[in-house]
Amino acid sequence: MFLISPDKATVNESLESFLIRLCKANGFESYQTMALVIRDWLQDNDHEAAGSWPLTLSRANIYHANHSSGFRVRALKLLDELLDTNSPSMLERCLLNTTTAFSPNLASVSQRNIIIPLKFIRTSTIPVCPQCLTEHQYIPQLWHISPYEACHHHKCELITHCPSCNEQLNYLQAERITHCECGYDLRLINTIKAPTINKVISEYIAGKDVDCLPLRADMSERFGIILWYQNRYLHSKSDDDSSLISFFEHWPQSFFEELDDLSKTACDKQLKSFNQTDFSVVFGDVLTSCQKLPFRTLQQNIVLEAVVDYLISLVEKNPKCKMANLGDLQLNIIETAALLSTSIEQVYRLIEEGYLQLAIKLKLHSRLSPNQGAFYLRQVIELRQSRITPTYSNNMTYLPSW
Ligand SMILES: [Zn+2]
Ligand SMILES: [Zn+2]
Repeated sequence: MFLISPDKATVNESLESFLIRLCKANGFESYQTMALVIRDWLQDNDHEAAGSWPLTLSRANIYHANHSSGFRVRALKLLDELLDTNSPSMLERCLLNTTTAFSPNLASVSQRNIIIPLKFIRTSTIPVCPQCLTEHQYIPQLWHISPYEACHHHKCELITHCPSCNEQLNYLQAERITHCECGYDLRLINTIKAPTINKVISEYIAGKDVDCLPLRADMSERFGIILWYQNRYLHSKSDDDSSLISFFEHWPQSFFEELDDLSKTACDKQLKSFNQTDFSVVFGDVLTSCQKLPFRTLQQNIVLEAVVDYLISLVEKNPKCKMANLGDLQLNIIETAALLSTSIEQVYRLIEEGYLQLAIKLKLHSRLSPNQGAFYLRQVIELRQSRITPTYSNNMTYLPSW
């Protein structure tokens, strides 16, 4: 058996779109018919891989396979052997599970080493650009990613609903690329010009350099920045995200002003001495929300870099004196790990070796709880400044684990 590759296979096409076209090119009437034939072929070659071969298109991508993703990788690699060699490999089209998390503990998937927050992957509606469909009959991976709401080629809004039957568009259900499930030709839809904000975000995550957003070469960082902004400032779908542009145009001053306001409010409303106040009482989740976006080092995480810069100058402006001040706020172990760009295990090691002193007295044999204020901000900043940041690593190791 040898499968005919569909025409013009490009690397930015989604796995599912490619599979639909593979069906068509080989005369199968549905994905499932083809999937059964492929599974039978795999059965003869590799029993384990055959068992993990997906029979439903909407579950085909590797990240859907929780336990057998290793086998599914093998199955897709075997499928490559059935295809012409000049098309990009099946694995390159897949979204893979990763162990990397975006703060605060959000799962992610990866494609060609780009880490994408899982919550950005669309599940119910996959919108389309009618003009793109007229030019090429495939679905780009970008249309699966939720902040991408405008076509960055045609500057128009993506279409989410069929004008004829009013249903949400999802080509995975219809197994048709240019038509809605009801038969309507999506290429006939007149498009409307996208609002600037949608256009800017789409261009940004499509990899173009946009003046008003932070220039980052690594796409994973760009996803981290958008995710962080959405989590921090947009609380419902109706929230206007157009302020994102002015926010980042004045980065990091815009953010520093917000942190200044928080500091000022804390001083005005102070009830407890600052050396007995938790950092989060004053600054909320400022540190934990940017700990991993998805990287921890300052070179790869501009938000954490801004927070660290801000806290360094805060400590400088509030030198140690008799009266406790904002430099004496208490950090918990998670915030300390964030501020040191390191792991919680490393923080425990730093305590054991005496590099970090606890600000509180622990009862005998009790373990420090992750949310308990335990270190003075000043001391953690001093430790951070006393160590040279290694640029080669995603994780700062202060002490070896032996
Ligand atoms: Zn388009
Ligand atoms: Zn329809």
